[in-house]
Amino acid sequence: MFFPQEIIKEIQERADIVEVISNYFPLKKAGSLFKTLCPFHQEKTPSFIVNPQKQIFHCFGCGVGGNVFSFLMRQENISFPEAVEMLARQTGVNISRYFSKSGERSGVVSRLYEVNELSSLYYQNNLLNKEKGREARRYLLERRGISQEVISRFRIGYAPAQGGLLSYLQKRGWTEEILIQAGLAVKREEGIYTDKFLQKIIFPLFNPQGKIVGFGSRRLDNQVPKYVNSPQTVVFNKSRYLYGLNFAKQFIKESVIIVEGYLDLLSLVQYGICNVVASLGTALTREQIRLLKRYTQRCLLIYDGDKAGQDACLRGLDLFIEEGIEGGVVLLPEGLDPDSCIREEG
Ligand SMILES: [Zn+2]
Repeated sequence: MFFPQEIIKEIQERADIVEVISNYFPLKKAGSLFKTLCPFHQEKTPSFIVNPQKQIFHCFGCGVGGNVFSFLMRQENISFPEAVEMLARQTGVNISRYFSKSGERSGVVSRLYEVNELSSLYYQNNLLNKEKGREARRYLLERRGISQEVISRFRIGYAPAQGGLLSYLQKRGWTEEILIQAGLAVKREEGIYTDKFLQKIIFPLFNPQGKIVGFGSRRLDNQVPKYVNSPQTVVFNKSRYLYGLNFAKQFIKESVIIVEGYLDLLSLVQYGICNVVASLGTALTREQIRLLKRYTQRCLLIYDGDKAGQDACLRGLDLFIEEGIEGGVVLLPEGLDPDSCIREEG
C-alpha cells in the first residue's frame, strides 16, 4: 500500500511522541525533555531521551533514534505502513481509502488484533449467554468465587467442546491462513482445520495498551495439560508477556505482586488487590522483570509452595538481584496455591 506524504504528515502532526511512548512505559520529565531506560538495549541508567519540541527520540547508549513512526516500528516490530496504519487509528485519521484501492484490507498486525477481538466476543458470548457455557460459568462463579463483574472486566469466555469459532470467523470473511497465523486454528491434515481451543475456559491476553494479543485457556476437567496458551505470533511473545499488566499498571506504585496463573491473579483482584500480574508459568523471565522495572522498584513473588514453585522463586530472586530490583518471596503452604489460600484463609 502507498500513503501520500501529506497523510503521513497529518498523522504525525496529530500524534504526540511523548504520549505514544508513554503508552508503553512511563517517561520521567528532565527539564524540557523526557527520559527512561532504553527499551532497545540493556542499561542501568537512563540514556533514552524523548524530545517533545522536535517530536523525536534518541538513545545515547545504543544510538537508535527517530520519529514516532520509527519508534513504533522498533517497539512493535512492524513495517512502516503498519506503523502509519496503527497511528492513523490512534489519531483518528481516516486512511481506509488507501487500502481499498490496492485491495488490501489492512496490515497483518491490525488484522491479528481485529480477529482476536472478534474471537474474544465469540468466546464471551458462549460463557455468558449459551447453554454450552453453563458448566464453565458455574465453575468460575461458584467454585472459584469470581464475580460477574470481574468476569466481564477480564472478558473471560468459553470455547465449547464441539468448536465453532472457525466457522463463526469464516462466515465473517476471515481465511484459515490468518486464523493459523493468529494461533486460533490448527491444521489437522491437508485442507482440514479445527479450532485450537476446545472445551476450555478462555482468558484473553491483553497487551499493556489493552489490545488482545492471544489467548490463555484452562481445562474444565482435571486432565493435563491444564493450561494451554496461544503459540508465539507476530503480536505475542510469551517470554516478554505479563498477564494483567494492562489492568494493573495504574495500581503499581510502590510494588507489584507476581503470581503464576490467571486464577491466582483473579482471586487477588476479587479481594481488591489490583497491583498484580501473572507470569503464566513458573519460569519468570528476565524480560518480564525488565518490563516491570519500568513501573516499580519492588517485586513480590507469590508462588505455590511445591517443589516447582520453590525452584522458581529461587531463580526469580537471582534475577531480581541481577536486574538490581528489590524482590521478596512468599511461598504458600504446601498444596495451597494463592487462589485456594486466599479463599480459605482470607
Ligand atoms: Zn539504547
